[in-house]
Amino acid sequence: MSQSSAASGARAQSNELVSLAERMGFLQALRVAFAVVVLAAGIFASDAIGASLADLVLFTAGYLLLSATAEGLRRTGRGRGLAVVGGMLLIDGIYLAWVTYLTGGSESPLQFLLYLHLIAVTLLAAYTTGLKIALWHSLLFFVVFYAQATEIIEPIDPAAKEGSLQTGSVLTVMGFFVFALGTAAFSSINERELRRRKVDLEALTDMAQGLENEADPRGVAQAFLTNVCDAFGFNRGAVVAAPNGGNPSLMAFRGPGDVPEAKPGVDSVMQKAWDAHDSILVKQLDPETDPQLAALLPFARNLVVTPLFAEGQPLGVLAVEYAADSGARIERRVVAMVSQFSAHASLALRNAWLLQQVQKMADTDALTGVSNRRTFEMVLEREVSRAARNGEQVTLVMVDIDHFKAINDTHGHQMGDEVLKKVATTIADGCRDFDVAARYGGEEFAIVLPSCSSKESLVVAERLRRSIGEADNPVPITASAGVATFPTHAPDPERLIAAADEALYESKRAGRDRVTRSRRRAQAGKTVKVD
Ligand code: GH3
Ligand code: MG
Ligand code: MG
Repeated sequence: MSQSSAASGARAQSNELVSLAERMGFLQALRVAFAVVVLAAGIFASDAIGASLADLVLFTAGYLLLSATAEGLRRTGRGRGLAVVGGMLLIDGIYLAWVTYLTGGSESPLQFLLYLHLIAVTLLAAYTTGLKIALWHSLLFFVVFYAQATEIIEPIDPAAKEGSLQTGSVLTVMGFFVFALGTAAFSSINERELRRRKVDLEALTDMAQGLENEADPRGVAQAFLTNVCDAFGFNRGAVVAAPNGGNPSLMAFRGPGDVPEAKPGVDSVMQKAWDAHDSILVKQLDPETDPQLAALLPFARNLVVTPLFAEGQPLGVLAVEYAADSGARIERRVVAMVSQFSAHASLALRNAWLLQQVQKMADTDALTGVSNRRTFEMVLEREVSRAARNGEQVTLVMVDIDHFKAINDTHGHQMGDEVLKKVATTIADGCRDFDVAARYGGEEFAIVLPSCSSKESLVVAERLRRSIGEADNPVPITASAGVATFPTHAPDPERLIAAADEALYESKRAGRDRVTRSRRRAQAGKTVKVD
């Protein structure tokens, strides 16, 4: 099971806003409150209620004992939990009906406990349960009422004594249903809102988790866009951004068909969203003033354009289309949530970009932009191991600019730097995609050529050397090169470097501006210099 489906599985289980255990806790507390009110009424208002305290104490004690037992049963999981809960709700009704009877029936001052029970059940269980309990209360009311009217039990209710239902009694029964329905209606409005917020927050958490798994800025932008579209039902959208502060360009796209071509730039709606520092609603895009978004989302109608900011700087925008037909409206809640998603994603985008920069700085040479010596050594190690496994060859070319010191001395260090940059570009351009060019140090470059045999190596190195001399350099230069191939000239990376370096030195000694191939011969584990 994937991480996200595991998370949504866990969520399905806790779909209720308040857990069952918590709701049962409330109901138990309510039962104790009922008991306290009944006993207090028996003690302090015995005249008004006209019931014997002994009777009330007896029933209440029995009721509490029963409810405690039921709760215990439910918690230990013995017996079926929901059946116990339902049974207890029926017993609540019987207790309250009996207390009402003892204290005056339809004229009992404790009748409000029945309504309180109805409200609590409707709020804590489902509204259908509330209606069932209203029905149960009504049934009990009639049973007690007619039991009195027919003198099966002692008639206490003045209405029952007269033997017929009076308006008050009818109102009591109607009241049960009005309370159950009213409470259900009000709570459902509240609950719908709470549920939506819960879903929104869960979507935000999901996105935050998704973004954590993405390391590169484009991955972050795509995860952000996908999450926003999925959470709020948008069909088309784009994230246009430049995390380094340049011209915003497409980072992520969602829509039917291929990704359209669009020129980077700041559209007028982007500027508006940045100025507003908040999401703006856009009826339609103008290809004149919003060329990029109009190209990405042709004929889009009703868009939310949300600015992406990090550290106070605008990075770009998220633009999503919420409906293709022009009269569509969008909920304020959705716009607010999209803004919240965007605030979160902006930071993730910025962080991913910074991380990428740090990684790049660690891997490349700051002046020339080609790999640095550390990366070169790692690549050579990797390629030699791979070649050893696959029975292939790896060629290493070392290139050194001739009389570079003189360039520095004559034209200045800055010009020297320019020459180094140009040489690096020339070498990188002359390489295949999987070759790795690196600055080995000073004015020396190293090129790792996987799958390049000793035979081919001279041709490749000669081509590189010539291209350096023929490039449009700030000052005319020549270069010397040394070539060595694994496993022909050396059995491991260290000795391969030494062999290429030695060949380079040979080139220098022979007059520079040339390529020399190593003359070493590798023998099982050691190299033999052949003169
Ligand atoms: P050879 O033909 O024998 O290679 O002579 P060379 O002058 O090219 O070599 P040498 O090793 O004598 O001098 C290399 C010079 O490169 C010395 C150093 O000041 C310069 N250098 C090293 N790193 C940089 C750099 O980053 N920028 C600039 N401008 N010069 C550098
Ligand atoms: Mg040199
Ligand atoms: Mg040198």
